[in-house]
Amino acid sequence: MNALRFDNALLRDLPGDPVTAPGVRQVHGAVWSDVAPTPVAAPRLLAHSAEMAARLGFSEADVASPAFAEVFGGNALLPGMQPFATNYGGHQFGHWAGQLGDGRAISLGEVVNAAGERWELQLKGAGPTPYSRTADGRAVLRSSIREFLCSEAMHHLGVPTTRALSLVATGEPVVRDMFYDGRARPEPGAIVCRVAPSFIRFGHFELPASRGDVALLRRLVDFCIRRDFPHLSGDGEALYGAWFAEVCARTAVMVAHWQRVGFVHGVMNTDNLSILGLTIDYGPYGWIDDYDPDWTPNTTDANGRRYRFGWQPKVAYWNLTRLAHALSPLFDGVDALNAGLTRYMDAYAAADLDATARKLGLGEAGEADVELMRELQQLLHAAEVDMTLWFRALAEVDPDAPSLAPLAHAFYDDAKRDAHAASFEAWLAQYAARVRADAMEPAARRARMHAANPRYVLRNYLAQQAIDRAEQGDASGVTELLDVMRRPYDDQPGREAFAQRRPDWARTKAGCSMLSCSS
Ligand code: AMP
Ligand code: MG
Repeated sequence: MNALRFDNALLRDLPGDPVTAPGVRQVHGAVWSDVAPTPVAAPRLLAHSAEMAARLGFSEADVASPAFAEVFGGNALLPGMQPFATNYGGHQFGHWAGQLGDGRAISLGEVVNAAGERWELQLKGAGPTPYSRTADGRAVLRSSIREFLCSEAMHHLGVPTTRALSLVATGEPVVRDMFYDGRARPEPGAIVCRVAPSFIRFGHFELPASRGDVALLRRLVDFCIRRDFPHLSGDGEALYGAWFAEVCARTAVMVAHWQRVGFVHGVMNTDNLSILGLTIDYGPYGWIDDYDPDWTPNTTDANGRRYRFGWQPKVAYWNLTRLAHALSPLFDGVDALNAGLTRYMDAYAAADLDATARKLGLGEAGEADVELMRELQQLLHAAEVDMTLWFRALAEVDPDAPSLAPLAHAFYDDAKRDAHAASFEAWLAQYAARVRADAMEPAARRARMHAANPRYVLRNYLAQQAIDRAEQGDASGVTELLDVMRRPYDDQPGREAFAQRRPDWARTKAGCSMLSCSS
């Protein structure tokens, strides 16, 4: 692993903070600061992603070596690594929050692998940085397990996301007030190494724009296009416009995937949106069990429920308007930026239509099918039906003899099922007629549906069970869950327990139904 090749383009091409001493500060005119991970007592590798390790060029022997846990626990550097933290701002819950920055993320460098791919390695929880504000730069085991597992689960679901290489226990306690009730307690600490071609966020552009530093803004945009969007050509406004439109389209595709699989991000602040359209910053996220567009997993969001499931598409749009505003000094007028925002609407509509067709098992979806899906969603909500189980089992409905029988296990409440049975039967009759009109070969239809409707998702209670075990010293639940989530669209005999309704005990348990930002 000493042979990994690093090419630290961000450090080379963008201005850095002249101050190198530790200490929290406002950083002007610079995109990054030098910072070393703070060593930990006893780094121990709890889990890793074999795919990601191989992709980066690590052998299994590398991963098993003590040096791997030292490096990814923040105690050692490989040749070529140059740790840094970056400077960004953001709109949090709709309000401008000023400078935020990598408060507990430290990038180690940019690997260029054998295939020529660029992958930035970033430790989360490796100690304080100039951007840590009042916090400690650390992360607890429970939130690290959640980030590690969900990054990889999303990737295998086909959702654009940052990846995770490793999960390392630090052997040190981290004090957190999980419920914000004044009862802080020590919890085991951990560090995830996450991996992405770029960790640049909307907020990286918003910060220099907010300070009127157009020169820095322009340098950052030029750099981002050159490094992260090398396929774009041209120059000046035309290039910037094409780039912004692509950011809009990628964001639309990402959010359409979230809606397809039932993922709720929970903190869609502009500092948590990636310029590459990758799902980033797995904090108080959650997965839809019973279909509820109003559900938010984040207790901090419980009042306004800004980041509820059903609002994600419009919140992403709002975030793009903030990005457009930040970029406006680079444009003469607003036309190109407005065109980008229109691109978002179009790309979202197209991706959503495609998801509708695939989820329902239709060759192509039209206006009437969108309405059919809307009616179904209303029913699923009203009758408290499990989203994942419903869509997976919909493939079992016989279009020549439609019935609710193959779907019965998706209901949480028998009384609600009975109350809505007639409406469901009417919907199924309409649906069956629509499927018959398509005349798709049954096996092909089933395969199409199975590829869009996962059997396994990282239900909140499943992650929590793995966390409870890991906190008792047994990390095998994490590895097992990771293994299940590697093939979410395949039926995996013997693993039925991972594809069940949320159990009743998990309905109101912390970590299973609601999450705090304390992590
Ligand atoms: P989030 O919305 O959770 O992604 O975080 C918002 C900001 O808080 C970012 O600038 C983070 O780096 C920072 N932050 C969150 N937790 C910590 C922590 N434990 N130590 C330092 N900074 C943190
Ligand atoms: Mg964040």
